[in-house]
Amino acid sequence: MKFGGTSMAGTERIRRVANIVRKQAAGGNEVAVVVSAMAGETDRLVNFCREANALYDPAEYDVVVASGEQVTSGLLALTLQSLGAKARSWLGWQLPVRTIEAHAKARIADIDGDELTASMEAGEIAVIPGFQGLSDDGRITTLGRGGSDTSAVAVAAAVGADRCDIYTDVDGVYTTDPRIVAKARKLKAVTYEEMLELASVGAKVLQTRSVGLAMKEGVRVQVLSSFVGDDAVPADELPGTMIVSEEEMNELVEKGLVERQHVTGIAHDKNEAKVILTRVPDKPGAVAHIFEPLAKASINVDMIIQNVGRDKGETDVTFTVPQADLARAQALLEDKRDDIGYNRLITDSKIAKISVVGVGMKSHAGVAATMFQALADRGINIQAITTSEIKVSVMIDEDETELAVRVLHTAYGLDAADEAA
Ligand code: ADP
Ligand code: ASP
Ligand code: MG
Repeated sequence: MKFGGTSMAGTERIRRVANIVRKQAAGGNEVAVVVSAMAGETDRLVNFCREANALYDPAEYDVVVASGEQVTSGLLALTLQSLGAKARSWLGWQLPVRTIEAHAKARIADIDGDELTASMEAGEIAVIPGFQGLSDDGRITTLGRGGSDTSAVAVAAAVGADRCDIYTDVDGVYTTDPRIVAKARKLKAVTYEEMLELASVGAKVLQTRSVGLAMKEGVRVQVLSSFVGDDAVPADELPGTMIVSEEEMNELVEKGLVERQHVTGIAHDKNEAKVILTRVPDKPGAVAHIFEPLAKASINVDMIIQNVGRDKGETDVTFTVPQADLARAQALLEDKRDDIGYNRLITDSKIAKISVVGVGMKSHAGVAATMFQALADRGINIQAITTSEIKVSVMIDEDETELAVRVLHTAYGLDAADEAA
């Protein structure tokens, strides 16, 4: 069971979580719980790091930001004990959760589940802080924002759990962010492939890596709310959204339990920025010159557009990078100006990426055309387009994000019926 920040925000809410956990254990299950820091706490800690040193050392940043989860794991263990349950906390370095790669965005390499399993078999509820791990050289690491989801899936895989229930502040995965579209519909099930794509284009309900890991390890994941009823419904009734394989999805559709749509969901992402380089030489190697320094600096480039060269053998190149990396990208490109040979460097952070996702696209034409027409009808200008087998993304002005999401939700027939909304 994993509980997110809103579920852990304060002693009253932690008591509610403890009750949900205790019920699950009382039902004869062995339970491991992964917790997030209290809502807002990680942001607060990140700000302290920035204030202390704008160019902070990521290793020390990890020491600071990992503390939020240490607090909530101890508090949940204490609360469970106060309710008469046996419980103990296991910090990342105690299990340990071994991680590789960079601080602040580490990846879980493995978790030794033996001690954990033994303690659970002995009737103890295991409480594990999410988000944190231990590097090769013995230092505390964190997994990137939203990383507790990945911790939960990794623990589930390590102990061979029957299921990984991700409790959050919404009761499942919706056709789009229910905070933006009131008529968003809850999905009974969504495939790993679609959830992976939705998460990677901005549906923050699950961290992208958690979905990839669940897919690889075959972990059964359910997303559900910890805020249902007085005491949340026991998860055994599967009240949330199940993440399922393609085969399971086909079975659900055949049984008439799930309706297949061409588009499963719509997501938005306001965290990218656009970079334009004008009058780049239109010759072999020019684009390589642009992206090589960015790759070396681990800056992820997403949408890329290069126009067909016009006269004088020159062309414009446009692409997006995470907003957080924009200043670094800009500095690197200015540094390489002579090598690349561009004329002007223009940036814009006021953009958003809107994506529609669905496996139905593989076999159905016209999904992109519907998107372009619906946006055109509302006068929303498209600045760039990218597609994959099950996704179409467009870049638009950030101010038009909410409108675009609503319009597309309606255009694809995803709105909940009025009486249900
Ligand atoms: P937690 O703190 O529990 O990890 P998050 O804030 O990370 O919770 O994720 C839950 C939020 O994800 C919801 O409150 C919702 O606003 C947002 N969200 C975005 N897209 C979706 C979607 N398609 N379905 C459900 N929630 C979504
Ligand atoms: N507390 C961390 C964050 O806010 C990890 C998580 O909650 O998943 O990003
Ligand atoms: Mg989250």
